[in-house]
Amino acid sequence: MAERPPPPPLSDAPLAPGLYVVATPIGNLRDITLRALDVLQGCDLLLAEDTRVTSKLLSAYGLSKPLARYDEHSADRAGPKALALLAEGGRVALVSDAGTPLVSDPGYRLVGEALAAGAAVYPIPGASAALAALTLAGLPTDRFLFAGFLPPKSAARRTALEALRDQRCTLIFYETGPRLRACLSDMAAVFGDRPAAVARELTKLHETCIRGPLSALMADPALEEPRGEIVVLVGGGAEAVATEADADTALAEALRRLPPGEAAAEVSAQLGLSRKDLYRRALALKGAK
Ligand code: SAM
Repeated sequence: MAERPPPPPLSDAPLAPGLYVVATPIGNLRDITLRALDVLQGCDLLLAEDTRVTSKLLSAYGLSKPLARYDEHSADRAGPKALALLAEGGRVALVSDAGTPLVSDPGYRLVGEALAAGAAVYPIPGASAALAALTLAGLPTDRFLFAGFLPPKSAARRTALEALRDQRCTLIFYETGPRLRACLSDMAAVFGDRPAAVARELTKLHETCIRGPLSALMADPALEEPRGEIVVLVGGGAEAVATEADADTALAEALRRLPPGEAAAEVSAQLGLSRKDLYRRALALKGAK
């Protein structure tokens, strides 16, 4: 059997003082950067959302560090301790259980407090389920909106979805298996049958991505109550196309205030329709009076 290559050497260069926001794998343990390992090795204090989860990551890379819990329940205790260390010129690293801290994970408050105290904050980029899912969903990637977790109850979820209905970009949501079906059904009710994708267990053994219109995803038996971690992506709303009736309504209103040429120019700017065509229509509407 071929021998395993030795682990890559970590840097001996001392870390600059500051708060390091360190991304960790979302499944496959090898999805960690060399720089992240440098920081985990070189920091004075490692803040972890769940110390048991982070201990496993450290031991996979032969590292050991004093760990303190940092989540919404422990922020009042762990935050001041970290800020005191930063004030003394220490190096504090923050990790969550998986992916990039602060992205639907703890850390926003600590980063704000560190910045307010004048500490340096360094990002150590790496995995994030939202971006990993975007890269394989097959939906447009030029513009996207990360919406995190939707409310668990249907009425509040539909209200949240309605606020996103007119967004023209790909929408990205975090979701759980037990709620997936109800969530897809609310999305279809609010958005209509848009193209979508459900990305599951990314970078893990059972990684899948099912793509199709929301109606097909709702009917897919594999998505009945899937296990594991899930990202749902939905295509953006289509550009609303102004109809002739829209143009007539807008022109009739403008003609009450303006001569045909100016009315046509105003409506053309409003609806994105041809000014020449609108002028002809404006003359016809005026003549019909
Ligand atoms: N901060 C993390 C990040 O950058 O991706 C996200 C943390 S959030 C508490 C956890 C949610 O992320 C899961 O419920 C799921 O929606 C999504 N997620 C995390 N890992 C995933 C994976 N391997 N595959 C698909 N979705 C994942």
